[in-house]
Amino acid sequence: MSYRNDVYAKAIEIRKKDIKALKDYYEQGLETLRQSDPHFKELENGIATAGSAAAVAAFSGDEAELLKMQTLCQKLNAEKQKILDNAGLKKPEVLCTLCADTFYKNGGLCDCIKKIAKQITFDDLSSSLPLENSTFDNFSLQFYSDKATEGGVVPRKRAENILAKCKEFVEDFPKNSRSLLFMGEAGLGKTHLSLAIVSEIIKKGYGVVYGSAQSLFSAAEKEHFLFNSSSEQEDALLSCDLLVIDDLGTEFLSSYTSSLFYNIVNSRLLNKKPTIINTNLDFDQLENRYTARITSRFIGEYEMKQFVGLDIRQQKALK
Ligand SMILES: [Zn+2]
Repeated sequence: MSYRNDVYAKAIEIRKKDIKALKDYYEQGLETLRQSDPHFKELENGIATAGSAAAVAAFSGDEAELLKMQTLCQKLNAEKQKILDNAGLKKPEVLCTLCADTFYKNGGLCDCIKKIAKQITFDDLSSSLPLENSTFDNFSLQFYSDKATEGGVVPRKRAENILAKCKEFVEDFPKNSRSLLFMGEAGLGKTHLSLAIVSEIIKKGYGVVYGSAQSLFSAAEKEHFLFNSSSEQEDALLSCDLLVIDDLGTEFLSSYTSSLFYNIVNSRLLNKKPTIINTNLDFDQLENRYTARITSRFIGEYEMKQFVGLDIRQQKALK
């Protein structure tokens, strides 16, 4: 996966800031000690003086004096270290042991920078939906009727079953998480549950891209035509750990987005990367719009869940 240079530049800036923040924290701690503990300041001065004296002794070949000054330095340093330990102040270690925070390795960028660049692209692509509003805990089953429909489905049972499936998806991620297709009319909780999954998976430290089909596809399309090649946004859609496509069926379909969508479904399955798709379309409508080569993938490889019930947003509004 390769990124435009500006994404890498941004990633390096972020890393530099993190490193500086750690250094600043340490320096501030030292400054506080100097001001609150005169002995600490004396020790620092003593170490500097003994160090210079040791250098002079080494230069003039005075071995006895050199040894004396070195011993003094060690003693003062040990005392200083004790104060630092008591204050819980530790000299910052490198953030990345692969590149020792130089950002480069073997003539290329280090993985630590690539990882941040990847996250920047995921964030750029993803909608800024308020994830905290949609959790498993505030997914309310009371909006689903416990009376069977004409088709013999009990909406609340169905919702319970889907909720359990979603929790399982998070639990086993990414090993046993089969891709999910959420079907059903608007306002039945498809987006709510997808976002609940998204925030749990982000908490686990995985790279997640989520958004409406319209926003995800058009972002990739724009970049594709701007740079006349496969873009990093397209790569992000293919390679992120979890992709959530909301509202499939409402997007503008071009020949580019059609083939992009097929490519997303297909290569993510091949690479065992889970995808969650929400749609208000029924199966026939999906097949008409995206052809059987897509729907046959859904049948064969996706776990399809049909949401049943009455529009929850309408129910809440009527209360
Ligand atoms: Zn590194």
